[in-house]
Amino acid sequence: MSASNILVIAVDGPAGSGKSSVCRGVAAKLGMRYLDTGAMYRAMTVAVLAAGVDVADEAAIEAVAEHTSITCGTDPGAPEVWLDGRDVAESIRGSEVTAAVSAVSAVPGVRRRLVEIQRSQVQAARHADVGIVVEGRDIGTVVVPEADLKIFLVADPAVRAERRALENGAGELPDPASVAVTHEELLKRDAYDAGREISPLAQADDARVVDTTDFTLIEVIEQV
Ligand code: C5P
Repeated sequence: MSASNILVIAVDGPAGSGKSSVCRGVAAKLGMRYLDTGAMYRAMTVAVLAAGVDVADEAAIEAVAEHTSITCGTDPGAPEVWLDGRDVAESIRGSEVTAAVSAVSAVPGVRRRLVEIQRSQVQAARHADVGIVVEGRDIGTVVVPEADLKIFLVADPAVRAERRALENGAGELPDPASVAVTHEELLKRDAYDAGREISPLAQADDARVVDTTDFTLIEVIEQV
């Protein structure tokens, strides 16, 4: 299959494996749309926290999800996400949201609602005859199991922690203590995401594994 025939690329992998940068780069290079499903789970978490709901209270989270509207842009050059019409692209990256997002995204009603939106965005891209790169944890296994190409991105956890700490510090060289804290947070989130009952973080049987540990962003984009 040539790149021009590929309509849907599903990219899954653990936190900090480089999914967002790689997916945006690939989508921009191939003139495809881009969907960040993690941003949608984060936006739902912003809604749950704003409602003052306990992240252990599934029923209350489902009630919030039912009345919450989440929309996501698909331009790889300017990813946008709105919660009830409000731009939340910045607030979804806060540490409080990162700490709560795995619990919120394990709730069945949240996944039902967001997977439906994700599938409709894939459908819209197909109808427009434009390709779409979709990143998340369950894209190749649950959201678009019929994807034309499935990638499972991995990287050494220490390298993932360094990259994430660098991002959090807005480019400043992170100190070893903050890398260690980030390392622990990533492993905890991965364990939660991989261990949940519904749509866990998992590699699809037909996914190609790409290990980004020893490669630059440009090199990984080329490989994909
Ligand atoms: O990709 P990102 O790290 O922003 O995702 C945040 C969280 O959203 C993940 O840790 C996971 O709990 C959840 N998520 C998910 N399914 C997806 C994408 C993200 O459960 N498809």
